[in-house]
Amino acid sequence: MREELKKIYGIDLGTTYSCIAYVDEHGKPVIVPNAENERITPSVVFFDEDNVIVGNEAKANAVLASGQVVAFVKRAMGDPNFLFEYNGQNHKPEEISSFILRKLVKDAEQNTGEKITDVVITCPAYFGINEREATRIAGDIAGLNVRQIINEPTAAAISYGMAENTEKKVVLVYDLGGGTFDITMIDISPESIEVICTGGDHNLGGKDWDDAVIQYLVSQFQEETGITEDILDDPDTCQSLQLAAEKAKKTLSSRDKTRIPIVYGTEKAGIELTREKFDEVTENLLERTISLTKDMLEEAKKKGYSTFDEILLVGGSSRMPQVPERIKQELNVEPKLFDPDESVAKGAALYGWKLSINDELIKRVAAETGKSVEEIKEAPAEDIPEEVMEQAARTLADESGLTLGAVKSSRVEVKNVCSKSFGVVALERGETELVFNLVLKNSTVPVDVCQQFGTHEANQENVSVRIMENEVGEETILPEMAKEIGNGLLTIPPGLPANSPIEVTFKLNEEGRLDITALEVTDKRKLDMIIETDSILQGEELEEAKTRSQNIAVV
Ligand code: AMP
Repeated sequence: MREELKKIYGIDLGTTYSCIAYVDEHGKPVIVPNAENERITPSVVFFDEDNVIVGNEAKANAVLASGQVVAFVKRAMGDPNFLFEYNGQNHKPEEISSFILRKLVKDAEQNTGEKITDVVITCPAYFGINEREATRIAGDIAGLNVRQIINEPTAAAISYGMAENTEKKVVLVYDLGGGTFDITMIDISPESIEVICTGGDHNLGGKDWDDAVIQYLVSQFQEETGITEDILDDPDTCQSLQLAAEKAKKTLSSRDKTRIPIVYGTEKAGIELTREKFDEVTENLLERTISLTKDMLEEAKKKGYSTFDEILLVGGSSRMPQVPERIKQELNVEPKLFDPDESVAKGAALYGWKLSINDELIKRVAAETGKSVEEIKEAPAEDIPEEVMEQAARTLADESGLTLGAVKSSRVEVKNVCSKSFGVVALERGETELVFNLVLKNSTVPVDVCQQFGTHEANQENVSVRIMENEVGEETILPEMAKEIGNGLLTIPPGLPANSPIEVTFKLNEEGRLDITALEVTDKRKLDMIIETDSILQGEELEEAKTRSQNIAVV
C-alpha cells in the first residue's frame, strides 16, 4: 500500500499579496487558488462586525472604510507601537496576519478537500528576532503548526534550484515585493543552497512606487484644475487614487503611457503618465535598491565572493522595466525574471516537502538501526552510515511511490545567514556603555558563541543583561545604534570582588531564534533568558487572541 507523505503547505505571507502552495506526488509545487479563483490574495483585512473579510473585497474598501481595514500589516510585524482598534478591541500585527493565514488555509482546504495542519511560512531575510517570532505567532493564532519560518529569497532560490536542476552557481536574488526589498547572494549546488550574504530594507517596496505616482497625480491635477487644497483629504478620491496609481504602475510595465481619470467633487481631469515620467518620479527609490545591492556585494567580498553568475528577479515589483534595465546598466549582467509572484510560496512548499521526507527518512533510519527517532534527529549527519541512509531512501521511495531521485533531492542542505548583529550592553574599561556584538550580521547560522564580561564593582548584587539587535557588522558599537530586544537580571552572590567573571552565551538557530544564557562563573548561577519584549503577543494575551480568533469567521 502507498503511504501518503504528510503534506506541509508553503505560505508566502506577503506585504501586499499572499500565496499558498503544496508539492504534488510528482514533486512539483502547485499554487492553490483562493475562493475567488485568484492565485494570489491581497493581504488586506476588513473588520466587518463579527466577520473578517480578507482579500480583494477588503482591498476595495481600504480607504472608504479605513477605520475597519488594515493593509501592509507586515511592515508593522514586531512593532510594539502598532495596535489596530476595532469595536473596542486592540489587535496586534500578528493577530491581523493570522486572519490572512486563515483565509489562505480555509480556501485551500476547500479547494483541495483536505485538512491543512502543518505549514512553512516565509518572511523577508531582513526580519529581526521579533518580526520572525511575530510571524510564527500569527501561524499559532491561526491554529497552524508552523514547522519553520524561512527567508523569502532562500525560498525563491530553492524553487529556482529545484526547477532548473541547476549546476553549481552563485546567484543574486533581487526581491522587490509590495513592501519590502531583500537582496541576497546564494551559492546553489546540487547538494546545498547556501546563503552567503543578505541586505535590504523592509520599508521599501511597490507601495512606495504607488505613493510616488499618487504625489505626481495630485500635483498634476492641481496644476490642471487650479485646485489648491489637498485632494487626498477626501477619502473617496484617496481610495480611487490608490487603486488607480497601482493600476497605472502595472500598465506601465507593458505600455509606454497611460491615462488616469481623477474626479474630485465637481472637478475632473485625465492625467497622462508616461513610463519616462514614472521612471523619473521613482528614480530615488530604484537607486536605493541599487545602493543596498552594492553594500551587500561589498559584504560578500569580505566573505570571499567577489563575483556571481546570475541575477534572479523575484517579487511583483521587479516586473517594472526600470528594474532589469538599471541592474543591467549597473552590474553588466542580464537579470532573469523568475516566477515573481509565486516562486516564494512554491519554494516554501518545496522546503516543507523536504522536511516531510526527512521526517519519514528518520523514522526508517531509526527502525533500521534500532534507535529512537529522537536519537537519530540529534545525531550528527556523518554518524549515520551512508548505506543505512541509502536503504532508508529506497524503502521510502518504494512505500511512497516517489522516485528515488526525488527522495534524495530532499536531502539538499539549506544554509542561512543572520541578517542582524546581536550583542549585549557592557561598560568598556568600566567607563563607557557599549554594545558588544557576539553575533555579527551575515554569520552562517546556527551560531553558538560565548564571551566573558566582568562585574563592575565589588559586592555587586545583580547584573542587568540587555540584549541588543543592530545592523552594524562591527564588534563594538554605541548603544544608540542598536535596538533593545530583551533584558534580564542576573543575581550575583554576595562578597565577590569587582571584575568577577560573567559568561554570556548566544545561540542563534537556523530559523533566527535566539537563546541566551548568562552565567555567573564563581557560583555557577545561571540565567536562561527568555527575550522579554512587549512587541509580540505572549502568555495570557496570546491565549486570549487565540480564543478571540476562533470566534471570528474569516471570509
Ligand atoms: P509581492 O509582494 O511580491 O506580491 O509584490 C507585490 C507588488 O508587486 C505590488 O506592489 C504590486 O503592485 C507589484 N506588481 C505586481 N505586478 C506588477 C507589474 N506588472 N508591474 C509593476 N508592479 C507590479
